[in-house]
Amino acid sequence: MKNIGIIGSTGSIGTQSLEVIRELNGLVPGSFRISALACGKRIEAAASQAREFGVRLLCTAEKEDAEKLKELLWDMKPEVLWGREGLNEIAGSDMDMLVTAIVGMAGIEPTLKAIERGTDIALANKETLVAAGEIVMREAGKKGVSILPVDSEHSAVFQCMQGIKREELEKIILTCSGGPFRTYPKEKLSGVTPKMALGHPTWNMGGKITVDSATLMNKGLEVIEAARLYNIGLKDIEVTVHPQSIVHSMIKTRDGAVLAQLGFPSMKLPIQYALTYPERLPCNVPVLDFEKGLSLTFEKPDCEKFPCLGLAIAAGEEGGTMPACMNAANEKAVRMFLGGAAKFTDIPMIVEKAMNAHRTIKDPTAEDVLNVSAETYAAAGL
Ligand code: NAD
Ligand code: MG
Repeated sequence: MKNIGIIGSTGSIGTQSLEVIRELNGLVPGSFRISALACGKRIEAAASQAREFGVRLLCTAEKEDAEKLKELLWDMKPEVLWGREGLNEIAGSDMDMLVTAIVGMAGIEPTLKAIERGTDIALANKETLVAAGEIVMREAGKKGVSILPVDSEHSAVFQCMQGIKREELEKIILTCSGGPFRTYPKEKLSGVTPKMALGHPTWNMGGKITVDSATLMNKGLEVIEAARLYNIGLKDIEVTVHPQSIVHSMIKTRDGAVLAQLGFPSMKLPIQYALTYPERLPCNVPVLDFEKGLSLTFEKPDCEKFPCLGLAIAAGEEGGTMPACMNAANEKAVRMFLGGAAKFTDIPMIVEKAMNAHRTIKDPTAEDVLNVSAETYAAAGL
């Protein structure tokens, strides 16, 4: 039996993780147990998750929600924590694996707490690897902790890497759907509304990552994520726009072979592979039907139309605290855009302004990363 904790359990990745665990337990009863859950605002959903999986350790973002959750679960008498400290306590509690399904830089501290405890990480929260990737990978190495990617591209790379030695890997080729504005005229982008940006053509995800996918910032974050996970230079990571989202990513080995992982666009397989690795178990997702015919296309990303991709790569190349600054500014910009306080095209401007104002700290500590993230978030704007 594997003990799992999930932070961000009521979001897109969190609910799909529980769906996968429910199905795996149906296959092999009792193979997974949920020992702890943390959520933000969706208290009723968290209560029903806690009931279904018999979870006795919970956490909410706000104190009044913790009280509400306790009331909803009065007969179970669970321990309900709240806030940043509660989240860290949950992440550092005894479990075999933590699924980081929380969004944004709020994932940095709990991820480090879990690593400190020696808990393996199923990592969805890419912002943590962007802002604090070197620290996370170093600490994980020291503790012998595995960081298993949940992000579909990184899972694809991880799947392709099975049986491949690190020195045989020459290049990572990340695929990118291109987002909802791939063919939209550049001069009309300033009029894009949150509603338009939240309609992703191939993936159904949380609000922040959906906007990131529309600006191509998501792919920029993923380039840094891949660089940290595989200790590979940013120049050896290529991005190709593949609107069908069937090839989830590829690797090129030194003999010139290109290996790819293909599948129907669903997060369930990457989530499941992180949970069951190194085993492959049946997974309830539609499979590709080649008899129906399948066209796959690849094109160069338009970095002029979508400056966020280049900004993220520049931040990754600079290293130190610059990726943390870039990431925090983007989180603020996305929040402003969704709240109507910034235009779609202001997002890269806000990020660039914050990066220009930042003085990079080389070899930062976790505290430096957290400080830069918080300070940048507070200061970023138009
Ligand atoms: P989401 O917005 O659907 O869910 C985020 C969850 O985090 C929610 O349950 C929210 O309540 C919770 N949360 C936020 N702040 C919190 C706090 N302070 N304390 C406790 N809980 C908090 O987001 P998502 O789409 O599931 O994405 C989660 C992460 O996974 C992101 O980092 C995203 O980039 C990454 N990711 C998502 C997908 C996807 O398909 N959705 C794919 C790849 C990677
Ligand atoms: Mg992805």
